[in-house]
Amino acid sequence: MTQSIIGNLAGYNGDGAAESVVRWALERFHPRLAIATSLQDSVLIHLAMRVRQDIRVFSLDTGRLPEEAYVCADEIRQRLGVRIEWYFPRHEAVEKLVTERGPFSFKHSLNDRRECCHVRKVEPLGRALDGLDAWMTSQRRDESVTRGTLATIERDEAHGGIVKINPLADWTANDIRAYLRKHDLPYNRLLDRGYPSIGCACCTRAVEPGEDPRAGRWWWESAEHKECGLHQKGAQS
Ligand code: SF4
Repeated sequence: MTQSIIGNLAGYNGDGAAESVVRWALERFHPRLAIATSLQDSVLIHLAMRVRQDIRVFSLDTGRLPEEAYVCADEIRQRLGVRIEWYFPRHEAVEKLVTERGPFSFKHSLNDRRECCHVRKVEPLGRALDGLDAWMTSQRRDESVTRGTLATIERDEAHGGIVKINPLADWTANDIRAYLRKHDLPYNRLLDRGYPSIGCACCTRAVEPGEDPRAGRWWWESAEHKECGLHQKGAQS
């Protein structure tokens, strides 16, 4: 782990190992820090709970999540004892979008897809982060070409300059699977069925062996566009 990728934001000067970053983040920012879960696995939640039990965890329910995501959420709640804070889209915005553009508007164009992601994900994320000083994500560099330069600690300019922490940035998919097995943790069962990256049911498909992990997300778009706006660098559009 290089110092340039870790940075020295907000005073972190450890070795960059996930456990060290998570401990520092919780000691530095709790309770004004929350962990975002996309309900793909519970590795980051488990790492945080080894530091303290009263962590804050939130998730975004877009209204189009696969059933397996809710099963994963319920296991996190029941088995790990985590109270997930849920954020839903503004119902007026979803009603307007679907009434005017139909239930599959996201297939029409890149702008239409971004509009749907904005209504169902980006706007609720803004509310979830309101009042926080920092948030933690499970993003990894090996997930896609759009995440190849992901920093472990960065300033989130799109959300008022709060600190964004990605402790698993240099983990691989195999690291995640090994940790899940070792600690017998909840995870999204779609991972067993060829879905290495999981989003809304209608915008995610399984990938073939050897395909890019994000190939199953918005598969009708080119690779450099495969972000939903949750992790953009500039101000929100
Ligand atoms: S992933 Fe698809 S359904 Fe989900 S918010 Fe984005 S465009 Fe809409």
